[in-house]
Amino acid sequence: MKIMKKADFRSGYVVIVGKPNVGKSTLMNRLVGEKLSITSDKPQTTRLSIKGIFNDPDCQIIFLDTPGFLKPRYEMQHRMLKQLTDTLNDADAVIFLTDKPSFPTDYDNELITMLKSVKRPRLAIINKSDLQGKITDLEIRERLTQEFEEILFVSAKNGDNVDKIIPAITKFIPFGPPFYDTDQLSDLPMRFFAQEVIREGVFRQFSQEVPYATAVLIDRYTEQSDKIVIEATIWIERDSQKPIIIGKNGTGLKKIREYAEKQLTDFNQAPTEIHLWVKVKKNWRKSPSALKEIGLTD
Ligand code: GDP
Ligand code: MG
Repeated sequence: MKIMKKADFRSGYVVIVGKPNVGKSTLMNRLVGEKLSITSDKPQTTRLSIKGIFNDPDCQIIFLDTPGFLKPRYEMQHRMLKQLTDTLNDADAVIFLTDKPSFPTDYDNELITMLKSVKRPRLAIINKSDLQGKITDLEIRERLTQEFEEILFVSAKNGDNVDKIIPAITKFIPFGPPFYDTDQLSDLPMRFFAQEVIREGVFRQFSQEVPYATAVLIDRYTEQSDKIVIEATIWIERDSQKPIIIGKNGTGLKKIREYAEKQLTDFNQAPTEIHLWVKVKKNWRKSPSALKEIGLTD
């Protein structure tokens, strides 16, 4: 889509924060209309902010989907927290996302308190409003009305009320030319997207410990005339995890590869070929140099 250069065009950044599993990724995917962020029924699959770009003739909004806000248990989570506060203070508006069935939890309360120090317009969105709440909608509103400019009940899953979000945000977006070329769907580096899709493949394949001990590094990303070829290494923390990931006769790795190839082929609309390696990187979650290598730096 081409956007006319209009004098009253608006362009800005909106950050979505919320506890794990409230539907941040699902909502962003729906707002942007393309699958740019990773969703899963396991919390904490998104470690880095991912940009999705909403474009219409009057406005461009860049959404950042943040990883869940966790107490810094590992070095990695400490870094994520710093990234999150930096990101919030640069945003034009902040969306606090929670979900109706669980609200309010201690986690919600901590986030609301944390957001008070962010001097940015704040909107509260209560997702999963297709489900029953612990307290009534009126009680939820009363709890949030002091801290937020606007409160919306939506369902990212079935789309209810999601169309109210853009108009509610737009008034906080400053006038200015678009940050990104609107012919591009997103500036999201394709390598990073490939990395997340391969991780999603790992999450779908394995339960419990293994996915959380995994990181994916894209070694090469080449666009050839007829196909895209990606070479990637899956890091694990311990020798004992290696046979689990690889599986009998390589079937574990094959499933991850096939899943990621299908997703990326659909997304790229070009045949995408993936080659995977597995490498033991002892305690990578606690190693600053390893975190830097996968892009988790301050
Ligand atoms: P995130 O961790 O906050 O990014 O959450 P996700 O977007 O990955 O969603 C977590 C789970 O909640 C997934 O299983 C979604 O399908 C589900 N979910 C998301 N939005 C809704 C909703 O509006 N209603 C219901 N019932 N489920 C939802
Ligand atoms: Mg997510």
